[in-house]
Amino acid sequence: MHPDLERVIHLQQIEDAAERARRTIADEPARQQQLAAALEAARQTLEIERARLVANQAARREIEKALAMQQARLSKFRDQLMEVKTNREYQAMQKEIETAQAEIRKQEDRLLEQMIEFDEVTLHVKQAEQAHLHDQAANEAERAQLAVQLSDAKAAIGRLAAERAALAAGISPPVLAVFDRVLKYRKISAVAPVRAGRCSACQILIRPQTVNELRRNEIIFQCESCLRILYYEDLPAAPGQAAPRPAE
Ligand SMILES: [Zn+2]
Repeated sequence: MHPDLERVIHLQQIEDAAERARRTIADEPARQQQLAAALEAARQTLEIERARLVANQAARREIEKALAMQQARLSKFRDQLMEVKTNREYQAMQKEIETAQAEIRKQEDRLLEQMIEFDEVTLHVKQAEQAHLHDQAANEAERAQLAVQLSDAKAAIGRLAAERAALAAGISPPVLAVFDRVLKYRKISAVAPVRAGRCSACQILIRPQTVNELRRNEIIFQCESCLRILYYEDLPAAPGQAAPRPAE
């Protein structure tokens, strides 16, 4: 393989790694925000369940108050029943007693419903608390992982810049100039493998005669369409390279 071709392929790999590191750094605030939002959502779920428990207990106190009031009325009517003089008064008092008894039964039913709901809501609160604890731990682990990725990315930027400079120093200046110009123009990639007779970056069909010339990877040849430096991929990759396999 042409030594410069081998070097620009390696240079491209360094550029790819640097791009991944830059993206990790750029994406970090958004990922932090996602983590914070997920934690807030878990906290809100817990708050909703806790609020339901508070509401249940408040409703229960209201029912107990109403129940006590009806029981007081009932015992007052029973006392008055002893003192009635006429049959008519007796019947009226009986009616009041029946009404109070019906009201007491109604409040007792409601109280039972509230107690059943209390058990359910208490269980939900416990489940939400556990889920929240679990989410908090998972969130912290993800934050720690993110911090490691960020510091790795920052370290990689410096290391890759040094690697790039050392590698670039060994590339003949005209070839390096082509690489840098195409990289600037194409943003991320300046080198592309030929696959199935096409430039794998822009997909243009390469003339068979050119493909034949490229087959030995002994020439520096730019794609006529996208200007990237082309290489033929079927050759074994140079050491340290993970050349992708053709998709045929
Ligand atoms: Zn191309």
